[in-house]
Amino acid sequence: MKKSSEILVGELETEFKTVAAMMKIYCKQHHGSSTLCQQCRELLVYAETKLDRCPYGESKPTCNKCPIHCYKPEEKQQMKAVMRYAGPRMLLPHPILSIRHLLHERREVPPKPIAGLSNRARRKAKSSDKQPSDK
Ligand SMILES: [Zn+2]
Repeated sequence: MKKSSEILVGELETEFKTVAAMMKIYCKQHHGSSTLCQQCRELLVYAETKLDRCPYGESKPTCNKCPIHCYKPEEKQQMKAVMRYAGPRMLLPHPILSIRHLLHERREVPPKPIAGLSNRARRKAKSSDKQPSDK
């Protein structure tokens, strides 16, 4: 199972690690997989894509407080079930990630993001800096 993301940086990567850890707890109990079953792996990839494209970028609020509803209904239901189950069970195996997440949840939701803040936009901008001829 992938535990870290190859494309996300900073806060977004930490967010991804939190989601991955939660999904692992959930999948083990609900699907009996000690890594991640196919369905959960797909959901994790979906989550990674959404984090990459989140217009807030690294100033992203926690997903349950975010005013932007970027998940499709089905994925949203799945992720909600994961969070509800795994959230309270995160403290013992992952104290740092869960305390960080709890603190983050109490933060104000930042104002509407400006364009180009997403991890994806910044990643693309960075790679075009390095290779100006590569379009
Ligand atoms: Zn699973």
